[in-house]
Amino acid sequence: METFDHVIVGGGVVGASIAYHLACKGAGKILLLERNDLASAASSRAAGLVLQSSTKFSKTPLAKLTVDTIPALEEELGESVGYHQVGSLRIATSEGRATELDAMAHDASKWDIPVHWPNTTEVGNMVPWLDTSTVHKTVFLPTDGYIDPYLLTMFYIRAARARGVVVRPRTDVRDVLVSKQEVSGVMTDTGQIACGTVIDACGAWAAVFSERVGFPLPMAPVRSHYWITEPSETYGGDHPVTILPDVAAYTRPEVGGLILGVQESRSVTFDARELPDDPAVFSPTKGEEHWDVLIDAYEGLAQFFPTIKSAQFSSYICGLSSYTPDGEIILGPVPGVSGFYAAAGACGSGITLSAGMGDVITDLILGLQPAFDVGPFRPDRFGRIDPFCEPFRARCAAARASKSR
Ligand SMILES: Cc1cc2nc3c(=O)[nH]c(=O)nc-3n(C[C@H](O)[C@H](O)[C@H](O)COP(=O)(O)OP(=O)(O)OC[C@H]3O[C@@H](n4cnc5c(N)ncnc54)[C@H](O)[C@@H]3O)c2cc1C
Repeated sequence: METFDHVIVGGGVVGASIAYHLACKGAGKILLLERNDLASAASSRAAGLVLQSSTKFSKTPLAKLTVDTIPALEEELGESVGYHQVGSLRIATSEGRATELDAMAHDASKWDIPVHWPNTTEVGNMVPWLDTSTVHKTVFLPTDGYIDPYLLTMFYIRAARARGVVVRPRTDVRDVLVSKQEVSGVMTDTGQIACGTVIDACGAWAAVFSERVGFPLPMAPVRSHYWITEPSETYGGDHPVTILPDVAAYTRPEVGGLILGVQESRSVTFDARELPDDPAVFSPTKGEEHWDVLIDAYEGLAQFFPTIKSAQFSSYICGLSSYTPDGEIILGPVPGVSGFYAAAGACGSGITLSAGMGDVITDLILGLQPAFDVGPFRPDRFGRIDPFCEPFRARCAAARASKSR
């Protein structure tokens, strides 16, 4: 039988980053298993925003680590991943929201993330299509930006492989083998593999996978989506990412046009047990209903985006993000079975947090002290719950609705 020290299940950005970080710390023989193609689920559908600051301060150092890791990956592979470090502008229209920006900026500064306060004229110059007449205060983080999420995942994979990690797509992990309350291996569709550690990086399916060791993770798959305009003279140009928390929306440049993301007040959620194994055969949006969501958002958006009704939206991308009720990620050992770890529930920020999640879980597995406080991320912080029932999923959708990026 094949034997590895660590088996990572899930070949999205989180699993890929864990493989890379374990290899960087010389953790022994590492195997990554993915049942479909690598990065074929959420990690290829993301808008790719890399935002280091949010109202969840626990995540800031993890996000900063991703910005710091990108150049290291590029150096290892001798190639650019194409990180568009255009910065992010976060806009407040009220005193309450301005107070939130102050707190976020203070937290970012603590981690040496550069912060600027542009005036309204400067904001107008940075984003010419934006109506700044109701802007009260704006913070600019110049080292934020956006990245191709598929490419970033493949950079982690390539760098991990170069360091000896074995990566096997098209391998379904069907069970976790446990002996005397300790992980002893996994059962795949091609046979048994012995290992001492299993890391659940199964994205939207992570609670279904962890249920095999008797502890379904406290998270739910929630629909996330965005629209893309045709290339246009109005929206083209490498503007900063623009965060509009007052209308729960964001924009970023996309090949001469614009991506527009809108958080719904009640996002659609799913019972993870009913999702097909292959995300290619599943869409969280049925038919053309998403145009109604966009039209419902027009009124609020027009405050910043006066030309929205004439914008030519030509594409729509949707997928599943995994949310927890408190908006914090899930990272750490799962109770009940020694050697089983979870890295999931990224709350719509798995690209941004990828290096931080990989680094922290590596430290926890190797018995090292993580550089950051991981208390808020504990998988058992809600006790034993049923993550598949409607009331729990509604709490996860509410966390998404109230997310202030
Ligand atoms: C529309 C949209 C926009 C987003 N925008 C952003 C953004 O701008 N910035 C940001 O930071 N984040 C964003 N996100 C969130 C981000 O995409 C996710 O947080 C991130 O991709 C999660 O990565 P993952 O590796 O955990 O999951 P995934 O990429 O979903 O990977 C999990 C993998 O596990 C595999 N798997 C599951 N079960 C098994 C099994 N039993 N055996 C083998 N393999 C298994 C699956 O096939 C899948 O490939 C967005 C998400 C969506 C949907």
